[in-house]
Amino acid sequence: MHRLCLLHELCHIAEHNHSEKFYRLMNQMMPKWEGMKNKLDAMANLIIGDTLPRSISG
Ligand SMILES: [Zn+2]
Repeated sequence: MHRLCLLHELCHIAEHNHSEKFYRLMNQMMPKWEGMKNKLDAMANLIIGDTLPRSISG
């Protein structure tokens, strides 16, 4: 998981902002980073627990 943060920081060496170019660079370095982000978000929701899972209904 730290790899994503490291990649993010590495991309900031080349791009000091979150421009389209920055995300293009991220995609070049690690095409699957977006999927990883989704996983991280899901994990964060579980840990923080401030969002109820959508699967629970009724
Ligand atoms: Zn950043």
